Amino acid sequence: MKHLQSGSYDFESLKLSLEVMSDLMPGQKFLVIECMSAPSQKGLGSVGKLYSLRLAFLIGEDGECTLMTAPYTMCECPVGVGACAHKGGAVSCSTLFANVSPVMNMKMW
Ligand SMILES: [Zn+2]
Repeated sequence: MKHLQSGSYDFESLKLSLEVMSDLMPGQKFLVIECMSAPSQKGLGSVGKLYSLRLAFLIGEDGECTLMTAPYTMCECPVGVGACAHKGGAVSCSTLFANVSPVMNMKMW
């Protein structure tokens, strides 16, 4: 992966898993998107680091996907349990995928 000065994603590490099950919500199915993210490299202790991030979408009975919060959606960065820029960027990318994929009908939190 090339580190860009303002952060980047390694799309070669991108994994998309459909109908993932969780013990936390028995009977529910999730769409999970995982990839590696490079932080902004702004010298705040993040230079050279890579963070694994996971977006988990609950698949509704109507096929609508709803983005879940932690512990389903997570990022390894110091603030990755809550909202972080890495997840925000990945959600934006996912929205682009949703616009070209008939599989995803996404609803943001
Ligand atoms: Zn993060």
